[in-house]
Amino acid sequence: MFTPNCPHCKSVVFRGVGVRNSVESAIAWLVSPYRCSLCGKHFFLFRWLAPLAGTA
Ligand SMILES: [Zn+2]
Repeated sequence: MFTPNCPHCKSVVFRGVGVRNSVESAIAWLVSPYRCSLCGKHFFLFRWLAPLAGTA
């Protein structure tokens, strides 16, 4: 089973963030932006892989 984690540091501690520009809003139906709480980098997760928390 695939566990979502940060592609940079493999941390599983991250939170959803809002879309920041038109590009991200254009792909928001497919992926959700997240920010890693450990290394602070932004990355995307496919919606069907992402946790429900922080997707508001
Ligand atoms: Zn990270």
